[in-house]
Amino acid sequence: MTLQTGAIADDFTGATDLASMLTRGGLSTVLQLGAPDPTEPCPDADAIVVALKSRTAPLDEALYDTLRSWHWMAAAGARQCYFKYCSTFDSTPEGNIGPVAQALMTATGAAQTVYTPALPENGRTVYQGKLFVGNQLLSESGMQNHPLTPMSDPDLTRVLAAQLSDGSTVGLVPWEIVQQGAAAIRACLAALAQDGIAHVITDALTQNDIDALAEAVRDMPLVTGGSGLGLSLARLLAQDSAVSIRPLPEVGGPTLMLSGSCSAATNAQVTRWRADGGTVLGIDPRQIVDRQELADNVMSQIADTSLLVSSSQPPETVRAIQDELGAERAAQIVENTLAHLATCARQQGVRRFVVAGGETSGAVVKALGAERLMVGESIAPGVPWCATLGSEPIALALKSGNFGTETFFRDALETAP
Ligand code: ADP
Repeated sequence: MTLQTGAIADDFTGATDLASMLTRGGLSTVLQLGAPDPTEPCPDADAIVVALKSRTAPLDEALYDTLRSWHWMAAAGARQCYFKYCSTFDSTPEGNIGPVAQALMTATGAAQTVYTPALPENGRTVYQGKLFVGNQLLSESGMQNHPLTPMSDPDLTRVLAAQLSDGSTVGLVPWEIVQQGAAAIRACLAALAQDGIAHVITDALTQNDIDALAEAVRDMPLVTGGSGLGLSLARLLAQDSAVSIRPLPEVGGPTLMLSGSCSAATNAQVTRWRADGGTVLGIDPRQIVDRQELADNVMSQIADTSLLVSSSQPPETVRAIQDELGAERAAQIVENTLAHLATCARQQGVRRFVVAGGETSGAVVKALGAERLMVGESIAPGVPWCATLGSEPIALALKSGNFGTETFFRDALETAP
């Protein structure tokens, strides 16, 4: 099998999202959790997605893990590098999207790359370089209140330019060109390259637009974007577009649901779960004094399959918590606590976990020591059930903050392997 796509995702939910799209597009895909051990051989697959927790990591660490992952896949003959980030371009003024993309351009020898975050199926579109979530600008979508990566500017050309270390100009392939198809897109990219423009945001309003973009960039050494571009590229690259999603092994037993996402959609999902009679055990980083006492309490209720442990809060409360503890410390307390609960539950024999939140998922998966996942059916677009390989599989559903409908937690339980 030729390794077509060597993908690196900057968070864990992003990785499962992309892996589900690549699988759907017809590529046999393996998900590697965390930077690989370079001495271990790459698995035989059409695509490998390495899940990192590099979105908000210190830049040095993000670059080290990203490049290590890429070199591992490049050595196995990966044809194209795919840098996956969130369809809401989650990042800070310092990065890490821009600097990581720059490092990957050097590593892959790419003279130019595209940034295609759009995921129309989930309402993320880009027009004139401005990112929309549904009918709202990114900066009015709730993402302006994100605890770690608040997005207050919807103009991606500006957001990206601020992150590029060398003051590079950021170009745009506008929708007027995109909708003319791949040849027009290629001509636009070539004209931008002539002007020395290496970083190019692409508009896209529909998956058809992304299909055209995929056709135009299929031979670029490096592409970057959300998972929508992955779906279109996979459809083009799949040798055998009949690759079907293999059923996951039967796992069974109680399911622990953990939410550390404060995104608008997750807050609505937690509220809905409670309104539908589900149990929600709320945790507040200001009040966690004894983590083990909390863990004992959760473990005593673990047989209740409707237990959801959640730190999700509306923006005002998150702000108050951050004012008191600092944003980073509050996030650390929540992530460590939820990761600890997952470890305790695992020790008690629990093998099914639903986790809401990208950073949160990274912390939980690391604590569980999961290394490689197979991808199963999706609960919602971009949120598949996955399972670790081996004789005692652990089932994981990792949900990016704003994904899933209001009934997500019920949907996840109903479809759990
Ligand atoms: P999403 O996918 O919605 O972006 P993430 O898990 O990536 O969710 O990010 C949410 C961040 O907010 C995490 O680092 C988490 O620890 C932190 N967090 C969660 N709950 C709270 C809270 N109540 N107060 C402050 N920070 C929180």
